[in-house]
Amino acid sequence: MAIDGPAGSGKSTVGRALAARLGVEYLDTGAMYRAVTSAVLRRGLDPQDAVAVAELAREVEISVGAGGVSVDGIDVTAEIRGPEVTRTVSLVAANPDVRAEMVRRQREWTRVRGGGVLEGRDIGTVVFPDAALKVYLTASPEVRARRRTAEVSDLDFKTVAADIARRDALDQGREASPLTQADDAVVVDTSDLSVEAIVDQLVSRLPGQREAASTRPAPDSTALAHGGDRGRHGHARPGTRGELILYGVVRGALLAFARLWFRVKASGTHNVPERGAFILAPVHRSNLDFMLVLVVTRRRMRFLAKDTLWKGPWARLFTALGGIPVARGTVDREALRTCIEVIEAGEPLVMFPEGTRQHGPVVQPFFDGPAFVQSRTGVPIVPVGIGGSEAAMPRGSKLIKPHRVRLVVGAPMNAESVDGSKARRAWVRARTADLHATVQELFDRAQRDAGTPNPSR
Ligand code: C5P
Repeated sequence: MAIDGPAGSGKSTVGRALAARLGVEYLDTGAMYRAVTSAVLRRGLDPQDAVAVAELAREVEISVGAGGVSVDGIDVTAEIRGPEVTRTVSLVAANPDVRAEMVRRQREWTRVRGGGVLEGRDIGTVVFPDAALKVYLTASPEVRARRRTAEVSDLDFKTVAADIARRDALDQGREASPLTQADDAVVVDTSDLSVEAIVDQLVSRLPGQREAASTRPAPDSTALAHGGDRGRHGHARPGTRGELILYGVVRGALLAFARLWFRVKASGTHNVPERGAFILAPVHRSNLDFMLVLVVTRRRMRFLAKDTLWKGPWARLFTALGGIPVARGTVDREALRTCIEVIEAGEPLVMFPEGTRQHGPVVQPFFDGPAFVQSRTGVPIVPVGIGGSEAAMPRGSKLIKPHRVRLVVGAPMNAESVDGSKARRAWVRARTADLHATVQELFDRAQRDAGTPNPSR
């Protein structure tokens, strides 16, 4: 769903409310242009230097979400609303190469989620000319300036009104995808309407959506407690009945294959909690590991995966299988927040502490993500060794060899309460070291059981 309109027309308020009503996610694309602008200013680039600015736009890491906006890991939520960024953003946004990159990211964001509400200036005209619903919001210049003045405490009405008029002119007058009304957009003047009334009107324009929207489950309450975030875009929640059934079917099929092909077996599965959240921390040697860990429990475990996997028809399957898309380049902090949300929703979570797939008999240094999440949530960590998976499908191999695979599940490592941030950091480090040693031990055992013993160190 595409919402366009000039500054202060109510896009963000309406966009958020519409997304919440429909149980989908919301993207403020203006924040993306603002984020690029803040990076331009921070690096001291000349905003007029089209080539340098475009290059930066292509490589900068931007995260825009309910948790705020960050650029290359730096929180710029407040900064991007400041006068400097606001003054410069339309200039940066007029750069066609910057636009091409932002449009690409916006389409990617939407593809991964299978839809959503996007708000900006060119969503219905350029980014998604085939959007299910196109909305063009307007409001009188006075109302718009009044709204923005209320948002920014340090500027007076006249300054804000002048700035809006200038930005409108730039946004409407630029060559690259100027702000215009799509022919088939629903036009709403928001000057005198309540948000509720506008959202009602928009929902009624969505063919077939009215009933669907009212029967969709409410956003999960755990995540709502975190400042209104619906939980990593609605993914950090227990599975719906349909998802769990699909999960059961797919798990059964994958395990049937794994039992036949790898003669996969697991020991120590009594260590996996039957109820409540926990963190499963396996060694990671092969792409097969995602499938192999399914053998340790019937419960649906969740895992973070690159959002690029959520392609077309596969998107639903990955979600049903417990996957949670994280944008490539998402700052770690964001990913950890997501993990905490999953755990708080009572879901088991798989975290590969080595980060990505590694190679060889030595367990590589661990990220302290699992220990950190444990320190915040108090759930147990269940360490796992997977043996033989690298022999079955090493990196770069397209073939899946019928090699024996064994999993060894270790005793759960329980959380301990620690006071004070310094002590907690030390505890996280110590727990990570412990976990590393334990996983190495389990990995050695599993490798031995699989017939590919690690050389003794
Ligand atoms: O929506 P917001 O006022 O935060 O947008 C900031 C600026 O970003 C706009 O004035 C416009 O120049 C640019 N923008 C854009 N295309 C979008 C969204 C925002 O050019 N889709």
